[in-house]
Amino acid sequence: MNINIVCPHCLEVSSVEKKESTISQKCTKCGDSLLDAKPITANAVILEHFMKNSDLPIVVDFWAPWCGPCISMAPHFEKAALAMPLQAQFLKINNDNEQALGSKFLIVSIPAVLLIKEGKEIARFTGARSNKQIQKWVRQYI
Ligand SMILES: [Zn+2]
Repeated sequence: MNINIVCPHCLEVSSVEKKESTISQKCTKCGDSLLDAKPITANAVILEHFMKNSDLPIVVDFWAPWCGPCISMAPHFEKAALAMPLQAQFLKINNDNEQALGSKFLIVSIPAVLLIKEGKEIARFTGARSNKQIQKWVRQYI
């Protein structure tokens, strides 16, 4: 079965075979690795693109530079992302820069982490969590 993945490097859509374990999976457009699961810095346009095109669940961290718990969660969010290549795509959105998006998703406190599947929000949590807690939470939905 093939699934569509948005390349973290060029943001083009790649259709790749879904396998249980993958040693190498390259973007069909730019040739870079689709296994590079570092969180992607996104904005409203990029999020929309992922929501329309990615077959993987999207995990979005709404954060801001002045928010202590956001800063302390950042390395945990990154570790969770790196542990889950081809299972979910992790995005980070600076809520201060994207206030319209923040109000569209009713973000009232940050960090707020939303899980979006098939274009719809299906779960969220607020407040900092650890790497393990984030992974466990995401795995419920994949
Ligand atoms: Zn690419």
